[in-house]
Amino acid sequence: MSHKFKFSIIMAIAVLFFLSTGAFAAAPAKMAGKVFIYDNGNGIARIHTYMAPFKAAANTSHVIELKDKLVLVDMQFVEAFAKEFRAYVDSLGKPVDRIYLSHEHPDHWFGSIAFQDAKVYALEGVIGFVKKIGPAIIKKKGKPAAIPNFAGTVKLGTEKIGGLTFEFSQFQNSESGNALVIALPELKTLIVQDLIYSNCHLYMGHDSFNVWISTLEKLKAQYKDYEWFLGGHGEPATTTAVIDNNIVYLNEANKAFDMAGGDLNKIKEYLFKRFPDLKAQFFVPFSVGIALKKPNQHK
Ligand SMILES: [Zn+2]
Repeated sequence: MSHKFKFSIIMAIAVLFFLSTGAFAAAPAKMAGKVFIYDNGNGIARIHTYMAPFKAAANTSHVIELKDKLVLVDMQFVEAFAKEFRAYVDSLGKPVDRIYLSHEHPDHWFGSIAFQDAKVYALEGVIGFVKKIGPAIIKKKGKPAAIPNFAGTVKLGTEKIGGLTFEFSQFQNSESGNALVIALPELKTLIVQDLIYSNCHLYMGHDSFNVWISTLEKLKAQYKDYEWFLGGHGEPATTTAVIDNNIVYLNEANKAFDMAGGDLNKIKEYLFKRFPDLKAQFFVPFSVGIALKKPNQHK
């Protein structure tokens, strides 16, 4: 049985559960976000991906459902979606063992307001950044948020949790200063978060496109036989084509920056014309504005 076929069966089962009012009653029958469930039949774990609506940047959070506990990745941005994700997590009826925060950007940890009772782990640089700058970011944005309940740093390398192998690696100065990538070899799943965007424009505020491209080339070579790629924005993808798409985008963004001479509108026009079908267009003016103010690569 192909993994795609198994995936669709699981999706159908999930829909039936949500239509009933039985064991899964804690999850709202009609959600604003979308849930994708992946199970390759290995019997150890399955993965639930909660995605906020595209108009809210399609932020993703994941649940790795083990036999008797849950491991989560990222906590949403907007309070309403964080709460909806929390209700979904609770509907699974298993305790949250821990949460991994993938990187320092607030759209992945503001929603920790709904997860203050859970232990959060992240890379050292991420914890340092969020503890130091986080309170000012919360004040500036003026939205409901909380500093995550950090319990410790992620130890890079391989770890078994609930019988499942987790491989943790770190990539720096790509989409953000620090990024955690989690590979789950038994599930052929790569949790990449914001190093890849799926069917969305990219956040370019870190302005480190060339390093980001080489990070993506490494990931593509290392995980070419994987079947489930989870980015931080947009739907799950089944092949490394999603990585190729991000490389193409970053090469085009390099061209746009080189020809625009610091003119945000020129960069925006170029990228909107080149990628008319990509969603979350607001990422472009927002993040290019940040990159132009604090250039890193395009000085
Ligand atoms: Zn993000």
